[in-house]
Amino acid sequence: MVLLGAPGVGKGTVGDMLAEKFGIPKISTGDIFRKAIAEKTPLGRKVNELTGKGELVPDDITVAIVKERIAKEDCKNGFIMDGFPRTIHQAEELDKLLKGMNLRLDAVVNIFLPKEEIIRRISLRRTCGNCSMIYNLNFSPPKKDGVCDKCGGLLYQRDDEKEETVLNRLSIYEKQTAPLIKYYEGRSRLINVTGETSKEIFERLIEIL
Ligand code: ADP
Ligand code: ZN
Repeated sequence: MVLLGAPGVGKGTVGDMLAEKFGIPKISTGDIFRKAIAEKTPLGRKVNELTGKGELVPDDITVAIVKERIAKEDCKNGFIMDGFPRTIHQAEELDKLLKGMNLRLDAVVNIFLPKEEIIRRISLRRTCGNCSMIYNLNFSPPKKDGVCDKCGGLLYQRDDEKEETVLNRLSIYEKQTAPLIKYYEGRSRLINVTGETSKEIFERLIEIL
């Protein structure tokens, strides 16, 4: 399954819920890059500046990372992609990878929200520095201020969640990623879904799926 949608629509949160429900891993290229940056690996150093500005990481690097990740044992029965593909070229590469694994896309989920709502939500978002769990100070605040419920890690606001960067990410999304909706129309089962909260979106999806 592939999760599409602009930054800030809650792909990560919905993806976590789906992964739990179906017992398959959620693969987030954004999380992989953030982890590499935190650990200052060669990959992290390469992508740090780009992700900080909200620019996309080049396709060859991103595809190589996905290829390595989905070759792991836990992906044999399927997986949920969160934040990949983000360009037509990446989508074509994913098609090839899936073919090679004898898997096919069950569904492409397009989560959509109005732009003002996206900007409002992103400014309320906090991420766990340890396990990447996402909180929303309004809808899903942590039990204890600034601390992750799941692992006790410290919550922080991502650099790329500042308003200026968010606007840049949204315009990059419109240009490079939104065309994927057309790409998947007619090629896969495309499900469009919206909702007030991630929980509502998740529940609607479960009904449809
Ligand atoms: P978002 O909240 O924008 O969906 P992500 O956590 O998915 O953010 O990704 C964070 C950053 O990592 C992106 O702004 C981009 O720089 C990089 N990134 C993640 N996935 C991809 C991808 N598929 N292609 C290129 N760059 C990516
Ligand atoms: Zn945590």
